[in-house]
Amino acid sequence: MRHWFLLPIYLIMLSLFFFVVVSAQEQPTQEKLLEERMNYYLKFENEFVPWYYLAAVDQFERNIQQVRNDIPNKEGIIALQFTKDYWMGELNPNKEDTSPLSIAIFAGKGLDGNGDGYADLEDNEDVLFTMATFLSGYGSAEEEFSLALWDYYKREETVNQIITIANLYKHFETLDLDEHAFPIPIKHNYSFQGTWGANRGWGGRRIHEGTDLFASYGVPVQSTSYGIIETLGWNEYGGWRIGIRDIHNTYHYFAHLAYFNEGLKEGDIVEPRTTIGYVGNSGYGKKGTSGKFPPHLHYGMYKDNGRTEWAFDPYPSLRLWERQDRNTDR
Ligand SMILES: [Zn+2]
Repeated sequence: MRHWFLLPIYLIMLSLFFFVVVSAQEQPTQEKLLEERMNYYLKFENEFVPWYYLAAVDQFERNIQQVRNDIPNKEGIIALQFTKDYWMGELNPNKEDTSPLSIAIFAGKGLDGNGDGYADLEDNEDVLFTMATFLSGYGSAEEEFSLALWDYYKREETVNQIITIANLYKHFETLDLDEHAFPIPIKHNYSFQGTWGANRGWGGRRIHEGTDLFASYGVPVQSTSYGIIETLGWNEYGGWRIGIRDIHNTYHYFAHLAYFNEGLKEGDIVEPRTTIGYVGNSGYGKKGTSGKFPPHLHYGMYKDNGRTEWAFDPYPSLRLWERQDRNTDR
């Protein structure tokens, strides 16, 4: 008899068990998510607009939504979104309009991408088809894509950022470019602390926008991400420095190098662990100045949010990548 008393408890435990199993299955893996996303891009690419153009615009929108609170953060597989005015037409009195006919009458840009009879602002297929159609009007060359982006966003940095993402997707033929690496191969000796915001004496009042990694002169410096070299050369603060832009609108900045990896130039594509240069003590003066401080790598991270770019503390990312590299014994 006493066992009957326990039955409700068994039932609760059983349902809890199913709940855990089912919810674990419903949570899509990152791999699955990227696959679904890619299927959308492939479905709506056309002879003028390859999948990586659609993917780059969508990724840029995802990037800015994550760091902006003045625009809606669109949940789901596709991040691309349009304003109601753009979609339905500014003068359209119906701000929920999904009729392709009346949207067209009010000069709205929203289109029906999947043939269900509705041009729905919330429908991923309609949204991608509308963007693909807009881009198709310009042509498939990179300059034509740039012009389309300029007409849409009216901001040069945004155009450059999207072109960078498109070229990375095109080159690697995958959306899976999230891997990172610690900037110094972990078999070398190095040390670093969180020095975000500390004062810097040289060049007037500046705060320290980055993390200093101390290592011996000549220790290799490697790319921390997939990206394209946006700047390479001399800067009076950073000395010999390199800036790499990734698919997350993030700019990775490596300064005070002794020298660059031979042959490396602006526009080159790099991967995590591509050697880009060597630890040095260049900077704080005119071109070629060195030896004004101990050798170290200054590493900075900057984010473009579609309006402006700002520095953020790289220290937590560095600790994470260091741990990942140690775990995989890189
Ligand atoms: Zn520094």
